[in-house]
Amino acid sequence: MRKVTRESNAARAAEAWAAGYPEDGPWGADERKQGITKILKDLGDNPDPDDVDRVIGNKSWTSVDECCECSCTKSSVLEIGGDDEQEAPPAYICFDCLLQGVNEMFQPASK
Ligand SMILES: [Zn+2]
Repeated sequence: MRKVTRESNAARAAEAWAAGYPEDGPWGADERKQGITKILKDLGDNPDPDDVDRVIGNKSWTSVDECCECSCTKSSVLEIGGDDEQEAPPAYICFDCLLQGVNEMFQPASK
């Protein structure tokens, strides 16, 4: 379980990009992809998300996933599960839905 923001996604972008486009993978010969890997790593451990977007050329690597419960898009969500690639992908929950879920846990059980 972890909090996901544009900043946390930006901090993981270099590692995620390198994992998606490894030098020994099918894209390994693609100099542009390897160049992006180097530039992302050169941005440091806590890069500005806008800089990451500019290097990659789109916002998909830093965007915050929408809430799985209400489909809203907020500046942060809680990622639940999905630690193991063999399991189902993680779920993303916004703060309002998380509070609603906590409240639901205190209600009497219903059928
Ligand atoms: Zn929600």
